[in-house]
Amino acid sequence: MNHGMQNKEALFDWLTQSMEQIAQALSTSLDVREVPGIILDQLPRVVPYERGSILLRDGNILRIVAMRGFPPGWPADTRVPIRENDVFQQIVESRQALLIDDVTKTSAWLQVEGLPINHSWLGVPLVSKDRVIGMVSLTRQEAAAFRPEEISLIRASASQATVALVNAGLLNDLERLNEQLEHLVQERTEELKRAYARLEKIDQAKTSFISIAAHELRTPLTLINGYTSLLGSVVKENKDASPLVEGILTGERRLLDVVNSMIDVSKIDTQELLVCKTAVNLWLIIRVIQSEYKTALKERQIEFNVVDVEQLPEIQADSQLLSKLFRQLIGNAIKYTPNGGSITVQGSVISGKGSGEGQGDSVEILIRDTGIGIDPAYQEVIFDKFYQMGSVELHSSGKTRFKGGGPGLGLAIARGIVQAHGGRIWVESPGHDEKTFPGSCFHVVLPV
Ligand code: ADP
Repeated sequence: MNHGMQNKEALFDWLTQSMEQIAQALSTSLDVREVPGIILDQLPRVVPYERGSILLRDGNILRIVAMRGFPPGWPADTRVPIRENDVFQQIVESRQALLIDDVTKTSAWLQVEGLPINHSWLGVPLVSKDRVIGMVSLTRQEAAAFRPEEISLIRASASQATVALVNAGLLNDLERLNEQLEHLVQERTEELKRAYARLEKIDQAKTSFISIAAHELRTPLTLINGYTSLLGSVVKENKDASPLVEGILTGERRLLDVVNSMIDVSKIDTQELLVCKTAVNLWLIIRVIQSEYKTALKERQIEFNVVDVEQLPEIQADSQLLSKLFRQLIGNAIKYTPNGGSITVQGSVISGKGSGEGQGDSVEILIRDTGIGIDPAYQEVIFDKFYQMGSVELHSSGKTRFKGGGPGLGLAIARGIVQAHGGRIWVESPGHDEKTFPGSCFHVVLPV
């Protein structure tokens, strides 16, 4: 480099080129620990020196992180204390570069033992966020070897070096953070695995409890049912006794429904649900269910519409299970729709490609009501067993009474039935509101 360069433009060009080279060398360095060394290797393009080092500040200690031109075997991690009034303290305080023409002639200089005396010294601070984080120290053997204009050149390199060092520091921190995070993630994963295994066990216990309880209940229930029916025929003539027996029978039927639901749910859990497929006409199923609910619909003044279901193709499915599915969904629609509302069952065919189920065609049945709706936060969990949102006092208060709760098994069974057919079920609703009645729309997609 021509130090006698007079032409300002040429100097500027040269300087930007050197800067770019330094920047490039820094940005392609993969190992952050190499950064200080790269700075020292690139610096002679800007300011030639004979011995140079980069020191990072740790309170009142300067730690050499890279050095060039030191005697062979010089310890790699030399520490230099910052002393009262010495050159380093002057730089830390002033945040300005310091040029000494002859170190032997200043009291602020303390010669490090074992280092040959180089007379000229140039110290340039590395300043980040108004703080001196370290410095570049360059020496030349001759006295007055550095020229004042070289200070501005090296200052520019130093600011670049600072950015690189700060980034490198950040990267180091990031690497550490990454390691810590990875460790944490591993720990948490282990915890989750253990918790999951525990939950699985609890769930299994719950399933077998349901199954045992249901089967144990069903036997005596059948007995009671048989005797009550007998009692009914014995007291047939007795006007006072007949309604009592009728009441007992209604209660028993409801109990049997619950017990059967429990058995269904445990079958679904243990994947024992048997699907006997035949050609099924969905329209017929819906019509039968409509007539089953005829009294309730009339009492509750709920309009019931069936749209585009008649022209649906027959599907291969278990007709009993599908009856159970739609009985449940329509029953729920009645239960959660206020008097005077409406329920619409609508069918459509989804062609193979659009169905998202893979190859064949599917049918989609919507059960739309004008009821209280379902909060989006609960639209997934309502399909879990024993999940109900109503208060417990409402339980078993009636199959079709407005908001009359149940055991929370209906939708779990519905989902089990749909999944056993290779289909999908979900609900859409703007939210839950018992004043504006936004309604819910249950979607059932079944392969043809
Ligand atoms: P439940 O026996 O309580 O009716 P389900 O599994 O059938 O149990 O339903 C679970 C919950 O989902 C219900 O408690 C209710 O809060 C909500 N839900 C089901 N269907 C509807 C609907 N059509 N409109 C509003 N909420 C519904």
